Amino acid sequence: MENGLRLLLCGLGIILGISSVNCEQTSPVREAIVGDALLNEEAYQFLQEMCDRFGPRMVGTDGHRKSMDFLERRLSDLGFRTERQIFQFPGWARGESKVEIVEPFKRSLRAAAIGYTRVSTQVEGELFYVESSRIEDLVKQELKGKVLLLRPNLRFSHKDLTKLASDHGILGIAMINRVNGGQLLARVANHNGEPTPIPMMTITQEEGFWMKRLLLDGATVRIRIETTSESRIFDGINLITSLPGSSGEKIVLGAHFDSWDLGQGAMDNGLGVAQIYEVARLLKNYSHQNLHTIEFVWFDAEELGLWGSRHYANTSSLDGIRAMVNLDMVGNPIAINAMGFDELVPFLENFSNDLGSWSFDRKVESKAWLGGDHHPFILKGVPSITLNAPINSDDVRYYHDFADTLDKVDRSHLARSSAIVGLLVQALANDQTDRASRLSTGETAELFRKSGLEDRMRKAGQWPFADD
Ligand SMILES: [Zn+2]
Repeated sequence: MENGLRLLLCGLGIILGISSVNCEQTSPVREAIVGDALLNEEAYQFLQEMCDRFGPRMVGTDGHRKSMDFLERRLSDLGFRTERQIFQFPGWARGESKVEIVEPFKRSLRAAAIGYTRVSTQVEGELFYVESSRIEDLVKQELKGKVLLLRPNLRFSHKDLTKLASDHGILGIAMINRVNGGQLLARVANHNGEPTPIPMMTITQEEGFWMKRLLLDGATVRIRIETTSESRIFDGINLITSLPGSSGEKIVLGAHFDSWDLGQGAMDNGLGVAQIYEVARLLKNYSHQNLHTIEFVWFDAEELGLWGSRHYANTSSLDGIRAMVNLDMVGNPIAINAMGFDELVPFLENFSNDLGSWSFDRKVESKAWLGGDHHPFILKGVPSITLNAPINSDDVRYYHDFADTLDKVDRSHLARSSAIVGLLVQALANDQTDRASRLSTGETAELFRKSGLEDRMRKAGQWPFADD
């Protein structure tokens, strides 16, 4: 068939929804992906509808359930069949929380319970300000019956907390937020789902510093903490769909579906939820037959400790995965990261060079970082990719907070990042070269060492490799 005629038929086929017209070989796939993403902005429309209609997606809440039903319906409208991979994990439900100053005056504080804080009877005690992370110095002080006020960015391990509570009689913890402006930072106390031995609250920087100044002036400050938050076993759901390929190998495109509950979870990680949806839509339209299978996975319970991606990595066969691409708070892509899998670098450099005026300003990076859904995959040696894609600093400061709302999302960044990820996944799914090897345990340990992460992982009790 003549090329012009094929293109015409292909375009008509898409408009009329006729799938028998084969477009991949004939249409300029990359241009179609980019043009559609930029002109139609379906990622943004999807994100707006999900965030505004159903709110945040904290596991175990109505908003989570309704948002997932909505995503599944939208995928079904596109012709995808979805699978729900259900798993159990130690979950946490936020209840009512109250923190108030009772001496030297009365004031109720803006506060949120830290994840895995459990139901407590009310505690009341004198505040004790903690600046240093050296626990051996701290325990020399008289701590019995006190509530610790922690400086920003200071946290203790579950083991130390348990010791402080049981051996030294600490009653509770108030953590000062690291960002000012009356913000609170939702987070978990630990990544193992261990209920805290004492109530733990995040409080605003302004009220935290106020109490700190009173304490340093020699005043006695007493606070009262109460929460009905609780830890219990939850069902988590990884939502999975795919575009089948012919090689028996696959590309996994993942993003966490769940969010914290204070705002709408628009940046963290509504962006990723919408980007995968959009890439699935774009590739279904313009590149539905590829050499390798593309699997789209919306991981659950990331915020509570990567439970969904850990479940996937521990229970699925990982052998056929050529690359795992993780999208977490992807804003404006400026670089791409091979996460220490240096064999991926030449491919990614070519990919960047082929982006024309969008070629990444920064070179391809290859350094692992911790704490996202790629982590369980890297631990198993699976080649992984993330984007270095900052969100505007005026917006990103609100992540995990009340103000993580749709108005913080830059819609042109969202359209562009969706297009770039679409192109990336399309290129990975049709790459005919030998794939990057999955690393052995020893090589994986070396990858983390090389990225300078060994110390941090050991301190957090998360170094799974044998000492050599
Ligand atoms: Zn996130």
